[in-house]
Order: sequence, then C-alpha cells, then structure tokens
Amino acid sequence: MDHQAVRLAMFDLDWTLIRPQGSRIFPRNGSDWQWAFPNVVEKVRANAHKYQFVIITNQKSLKGESRMRQFRDKMDAVASALDVPLLVLVALESDRYRKPVPALWDEHLLKLFPKVERPASIYCGDAAGRTGDFSDTDYKFALNIGVPFRIPEQVFRDRKIVFHPPKIAFPARLRELVGTYDLEMSGWEMVLLVGMPASGKSTIARSLAAGRCLIDNPAGAVTVCSEELQTRIWCLQLVEGCLKQRESVIVDGTNVTIESRDPYIKLAKRYGCPTRALVVLTPDEVIRHNNIFREYMERKSTPEAAHRILRGKWQQPSPEEGLDVVQTVPYRVSPDAPPEYFYHYF
Ligand SMILES: [Mg+2]
Repeated sequence: MDHQAVRLAMFDLDWTLIRPQGSRIFPRNGSDWQWAFPNVVEKVRANAHKYQFVIITNQKSLKGESRMRQFRDKMDAVASALDVPLLVLVALESDRYRKPVPALWDEHLLKLFPKVERPASIYCGDAAGRTGDFSDTDYKFALNIGVPFRIPEQVFRDRKIVFHPPKIAFPARLRELVGTYDLEMSGWEMVLLVGMPASGKSTIARSLAAGRCLIDNPAGAVTVCSEELQTRIWCLQLVEGCLKQRESVIVDGTNVTIESRDPYIKLAKRYGCPTRALVVLTPDEVIRHNNIFREYMERKSTPEAAHRILRGKWQQPSPEEGLDVVQTVPYRVSPDAPPEYFYHYF
C-alpha cells in the first residue's frame, strides 16, 4: 500500500467537540449531546482538505449492550453532522489504550498513517491540567505522541488564547539515573530485597546473581526466589533448600513489613547464614512511571491502590529484626532502557 504524507487533526470527544445538553456534566442518554462550541461543524469542514480528522476518546463507563448502543448512535450522529472523513478510536478499559498512554498511537495510528507529519498535526483536548480541569491526560497524550497540543478554546474561539502548560510529575531526571548497580554477593549470604513494586528490585536481583543462576536452575551458587512469581510457601521452601546446600539466595519480593521478612530471617539464622536487606530507594514519581510503563510494554502493572496500601504498611528494615546488614541502594535506569522510557509523560 502506498502511504501518503498526512496531517492529523486529532480531537478528544467530551467537552472538546461535544458536551451534554443544559448544565449536566455527564450525558443522560445517547441523544443528550450538543456541540461544545457553536462553530465546531464549520471549523472542521473548513479544514477538511488539510487534515484527516480523528477522535480519540476514553470511555471506561460503556459497560453493557445498551450503553454501547447509545454511544454508537451518538457517534453516528456526530459523524454525519460533521460530514468529513472521520476515524474514531475509543479506549474502553483502564489499560494501555487509555490516554495518556500512547499505545493507540503507536499500534494503530502509526500503522494507518506511517507518513504522518507530526509537527503539522495537532491534538486538541480539554483535559489540559489547567485550574479546574479534571485531569491533564489530553495534554500528556500530546506530549507522549510528540504532536503539538491545543486546548479547545484555541481551536474553536481564538488561536491567540494562551495556554499555560501544567507542571507534570514526570521524573525529569530519568536520564541522570542511567547506570548499573555496583553490587556483589559477599560469600555465603541471604539477600532480602525491600522495595515497592516497579522499583527495580528484579533488575537488582538479576545484577546480583550476575547470570550465575536463576530460579529455574537452583543448583548453582546463587538462587533468586521471586515472591511475585511464586507463593511465599514455595519461596520459603526453595530458600531452605538452598541454605541446606550452603548456597546464597536472593529473595526478590516487596518485603516491606517486619512480618513479611521475619520467616526468611529466622530460616537464615537456623542455618547460620548471614542476612542482608537491600532497600531500594526509588523516587515515587519514578515508581509511578515504571508501573505505567510496564503496563504499556508488558501489559502488567500493579494497581495504584496496591501501591498506596504497601506504602502505608512500610516498615524500614533494621538490625533489631535480626538482619546482619541493612544497605540502601539508589535506583538506576538500565542503560538498555528503550527510548520511549525517557520521553513518555505518563
Ligand atoms: Mg474531554
């Protein structure tokens, strides 16, 4: 297929192109809509020769046949009123397709329009992180896909209206954190990793084991037991098996409470094995970024609520628990991190 260079005019839907009638915030049914600005149709049609129009909308609440049918009817009505070639992309879940995560762009739009002219395209949405906006997801989506951002007022009222971009909690220092972990196993020992999900624990575990031996091959010098992959009982059994053989072992789990660390420490004591807690110090905004990035890359992440619960339970490891060494480790970004890691503003 021969692809043409194309400019995209991409729009959010709710409160950008349309809004409920009257003063309602949420629509009552599929026919409860009106244009968000009186000149939407005129403006879109006047620019139809310059742009391919796209609507990108998050619609998590479209559960059930009837809501879905109402939404489809509404989009039919919007599309026929605009009467220009129109592509509508709808993210139905809280997953990697939901703005501001750019998977819809990377996996769909770039495939449909590989020759898109990014600087000449626009993305316009009302969730711009302004005072009073319910979120900044539209603004972040534009940053993530590398396309100029406009607020609806600039497009439909006056292009000279000034938009002051919000400060966003993107870990701007990510590039400064690139490096490798300078860690080694010291003789026979048990290392307990302590840290939040997505804080870099497994990378540290791998770096410590230095390829010597992972969980699939517990006969070598170092075994990594990941509580995130196994149950605690299984992990304890594996750890005990290693200690019996005087093998070193790394316990890769969150281990944020005294109670969760205790059975491992007791086990090590029983076999006379020295223990070391490695506390991973990863800034909160980096953890958040890693978590969403993991959803984007691997389709697995930990819900925000689980993070909050763990944070609330956090008990700093101390020698009083029976640990021989408590060591903190600053977070490092792997030199192999893909480029997207550094420029996506999730
Ligand atoms: Mg909106």
